[in-house]
Amino acid sequence: MSRAEQPQSLKQARRCLARTRKGTACQCPAMPNGRCRIHGGLSPGVPGNQNALKHGRYSRDYLAIRRAVAEMRRELHSLKKQMD
Ligand SMILES: [Zn+2]
Repeated sequence: MSRAEQPQSLKQARRCLARTRKGTACQCPAMPNGRCRIHGGLSPGVPGNQNALKHGRYSRDYLAIRRAVAEMRRELHSLKKQMD
């Protein structure tokens, strides 16, 4: 479809303007997020979706627990050092 054949609403749509590999701005019609269907990215998925879960080792909750434990261990270590 040439640009002349595009429907009027597509011609008037905001442009994506993502930087292309050529260095120019992408001229595809933008979606509501301001980028085109190519540069807008896919949905990151439904939050909390358990369907593909294998073990949860890298899940947000587990990482938070590991961070908290690491922080406690650091505190314990510094307390031990103070006692020596
Ligand atoms: Zn684009």
